[in-house]
Amino acid sequence: MYRLNQIIFSILFFLLFVLQIDSNLYAQQLSGKYTIVIHGGAGYFPKDSPEELKQQYISSLTEALNIGKKILANGGTSLDAVEKVINYLENNFLFNAGKGAVFTSEGKHELDASIMQGKDLSSGAVTGVTIIKNPISLSRLVMEKTDHILFAGKGADDLGIQFGVDVVPNSYFHDSTQYQKWLNSRLPKQQGETVGCVALDQYGNITAGTSTGGRQNKMPGRVGDSPLINAGTYANNNTCGVSATGWGELFIKNTVAFNISALMEYKGYTLKQACDEMIYKRLPEESGGIVALDKDGNYEMPFNTISMMRAVANSKGEFKIEIWNNN
Ligand code: ASP
Repeated sequence: MYRLNQIIFSILFFLLFVLQIDSNLYAQQLSGKYTIVIHGGAGYFPKDSPEELKQQYISSLTEALNIGKKILANGGTSLDAVEKVINYLENNFLFNAGKGAVFTSEGKHELDASIMQGKDLSSGAVTGVTIIKNPISLSRLVMEKTDHILFAGKGADDLGIQFGVDVVPNSYFHDSTQYQKWLNSRLPKQQGETVGCVALDQYGNITAGTSTGGRQNKMPGRVGDSPLINAGTYANNNTCGVSATGWGELFIKNTVAFNISALMEYKGYTLKQACDEMIYKRLPEESGGIVALDKDGNYEMPFNTISMMRAVANSKGEFKIEIWNNN
């Protein structure tokens, strides 16, 4: 009996010791510094749009920013912040991701998303999903629970069912405003409204994520840049995190998200220099934009279209929402 007591006591002592070390580490790791950047798509949102519509976008971006800021300020992870911010935007019919996604040329919805962590380059992505309510959450599960990175079409939908994520009929994504835009979508210039988020948490970890319905009137089966790590999404704790929006084919050709990180790593560019190089020099005009931040919390949100819905908040107290240049 005495022996048993001794063993139980030793185990308890050991557990207390481990917990103590763990909580010390936890306390030490919180830097007090965080930054979050969000986009709601680059494109051609007219400056003279109805005031009410502008306010709807601004208040939605404000809500999204508050969700992410709260998680980061409370010591949550950039992974949780990015997923929850994008979930909110996916559930908001104003944006081209989840509910409110654009239409294929056949009048259906095929959704894409990707997420990446800068601490170990782990990534997950889905493309062409048709019944997954929140494609960014399925991307996270791909990253965390499979040995793979990108799942497509039926295989991705089936994986979502297997993981027990929220599943909806394809008609759930339908929104009457997007439907009208689709009917008029012979227009060459599009409004955008893809969503993306990059966050740096208090542990120094960067996560980037992007979610979209793709391009209005796209051919069925078309894959854009958003579900492609390196093109539409990239994160590396040594350099930066990036989420892109715009003409996906151009972002794929120019490997935009990875190249921003590579310019910093290989050529010693600052975040601003690397972003400017890709958005203003390499990409053709009117192709889109990015939101990005570096390991020190500096951020950039350049675009070469008329508008890009965007937002930033950080531990220095900045909190702003912008749509055009010189808002
Ligand atoms: N980049 C997205 C795509 O090409 C669309 C967008 O950002 O507007 O699918």
